This record gives sequence, structure tokens and C-alpha cells, in this order.
Amino acid sequence: MQFNDLQRQYNAYKNEIDEAIQQVLNSSRYINGEEVALLEAELSAYVGVKHTISCASGTDALLLSLMALDLQPGEEVICPAFSFISPASMTRLLAATPVFVDVSPLDFNIDVEKIEAKITSRTKAIIGVSLFGQCANFEAINALAEQHGLWTIEDGAQSFGADFQSQKSGSLTDLATTSFFPAKPLGCYGDGGAIFTNNDVLAEKLRALKAHGQTMRYHHQLIGLNSRLDTIQAAVLRVKLKHLDEEIKARQEIAGIYKQLLPQGIFLPEVAAAHESVWAQYTIGLPNRDQAKEYLDKRGIPTNIHYPVPLPFQEAFAGIGEGADSFEVASLLSETVLSLPMHAFLTIEEIRYIAQSLQDFLKHEK
Ligand SMILES: *Cc1c(COP(=O)(O)O)cnc(C)c1O
Repeated sequence: MQFNDLQRQYNAYKNEIDEAIQQVLNSSRYINGEEVALLEAELSAYVGVKHTISCASGTDALLLSLMALDLQPGEEVICPAFSFISPASMTRLLAATPVFVDVSPLDFNIDVEKIEAKITSRTKAIIGVSLFGQCANFEAINALAEQHGLWTIEDGAQSFGADFQSQKSGSLTDLATTSFFPAKPLGCYGDGGAIFTNNDVLAEKLRALKAHGQTMRYHHQLIGLNSRLDTIQAAVLRVKLKHLDEEIKARQEIAGIYKQLLPQGIFLPEVAAAHESVWAQYTIGLPNRDQAKEYLDKRGIPTNIHYPVPLPFQEAFAGIGEGADSFEVASLLSETVLSLPMHAFLTIEEIRYIAQSLQDFLKHEK
């Protein structure tokens, strides 16, 4: 059994994908081939935004976004304490300071009740990560940002295709980013990312920033990166985008079956009102998590811990905001969460086997 079975996914779309890749090979336009612009237009239509700027990874998408907002050394960016590192590390890379906010135990996303206390005169932006496939509460985040004159960014690396209040992830904030890393809800066959926005000025700046800061070839107005989505990846993504809604439906059904079959005594993830999750991860909570992981591993069930260390306690952030907060929820989650296999091609027999194994584990633990 695979944690995320990309082989089954490839086999399902093999003819279409092989043909799309072959077309790029025939054209020899490996960089900035026509598929890149076509994909950007299709992504804009899907998300419901004016501009999609593709780039080399979800991490670059965040770095470029912060550069586009002209984030200065010493300024602050609000980030969730329990997440992947990119929003906070890209903030730090620009010599600005990530200010961590604890998360909610209900949806694992930034606790909107705890943001305002961390806003200062140096705060520039709030980054909400839409973790495990469910959007953060951007209604509350946008209201706070409006009140305090801040920018908002959604890190939608795990939520492409998700809905909040009938709007797509990627369309909820000033800037939004996603990742096309293979295991993400919409993944390519290498690294890739994108930024979404309705802001014409930021879109134009982002296009320059991702291309060495140039607006015309060899004319550089800004200091930028080289951050491109290559044509083969764009071609793969165009095929996969066509199948995304079916895959999301399958994941939602699988989450429903997990909920039915998993034994009592386990904390199950919930989808909040007005949200539709794409279930990037199916992450449960249980007190003896490490033993459960080992037990499932022996039965051939791969699991992952997302994430074992809250960000404020990472060595890379030593000395930043130390002792300012105990991050109780992030700490509890890091000790108890376990992500189970989740992908659109998981079979009912596999889900039964996982549920039965967890039940056996709980009995065995008593
Ligand atoms: C995967 C991920 C990223 C980074 O994406 P890459 O394409 O690997 O750089 C950023 N944020 C979150 C929440 C992620 O899950």
C-alpha cells in the first residue's frame, strides 16, 4: 500500500499524459512553451482570479509574493505555528520576522481569535495556510487585515480546489500561492508552483520578479529570481486539471468512509461550515501516536506525521519570539497527529484494512 499512490494515478491517465509530454518533446519548447500560458489561463478560470503567475515551486511562490509586497528587513509577517515551514522561512529569508500564532484544534488552521494580539506597527501581512485541504478562515483574516491595513496571503499548497463560502482557494486573499509538488492535490512530475491574484499591479511585478526583475529582455528594473514552471510540467498539469474535480470527489468519499469505519477513541478531522476540503491529508489524532504508527507500519500501512515540531520550536527560528507564547495547541497536535493514506485511488478494501488495523491497535493497547 502507498501513502499517496501516484503510480495508480499515472496509469489512469497514461495515454493523455504520454501524449501531452510527447507534444512538448516534438515542439522542443522546454521553457515558456505554449502550454505554460494555456495552463495559466485555465488555472485563472478554475480559481476565479484575473491572474495566475506560474513559478518553480510553492516555496518560490511565497518568496516572490513577499518580494512583491516589498517586505523589508525588520517588518513582521503573521504565520501559523503549526504548518510546513515555507511561509515563515521565506519571511526570514528576507530578514523580516515571522510572528507565530497558535492554531485551532478543530481545523488545525491559524486561530483567528489569537491573531489581533500579535499585530504590531511593524506587521506587514498575514499568511493563512490552508492546511490538509481546508481553507483557513479568510473571512475573519481579511476583516482583521482591512482594519489594520495589512496584506493577506493564502498558502494554498495543500488546498488547490477547495472552497470557502463557495469561492475557490486561491481567490480569497490579495495574493495566494500553491505548489504542484507531485503529492499535492494538483501535482506535476517535478517541482512547480503558482501565484494567484486579482491585483494588476502586483501581477505585473510578480512577472518581472520571477524573470530576473526584467520587464523587457535584458532590461532589469528589479532584483528578481529565475523561477519558472517548465513546459513539460505545464503539459502534465493541464491533463491532471481536467481530472481534478473527479479526484476531489473521490477523496471526499474516502474521507466519509474513514469517518464511518474508524474506531471510537480517535480524534477525527472535521470540515467546518461553509468549507469544502480537498483532503490533501487525512490526519487523525491519538494519544499513543508513535506506537500506532509503528503498529500500522508492521501491517504494511504507511503513515506520516504532519508535523512533528511546531515552527516556533524549530532550530532555524531560535531566538525569534522566544517565550512569547506556549503554542499549546500546536504542541499538542505535534505529539498526537497521524496522517493516514489518502489519494483518489484508495480502495474500499484498503480503507477497511486500515480501519481494522487501528481497531486492533486500540484493543491491543488496552
Ligand atoms: C508543500 C508546501 C509548501 C512548499 O511547496 P514546494 O513546492 O515544495 O516548495 C508550502 N506550504 C505548504 C503548506 C506546503 O504543504
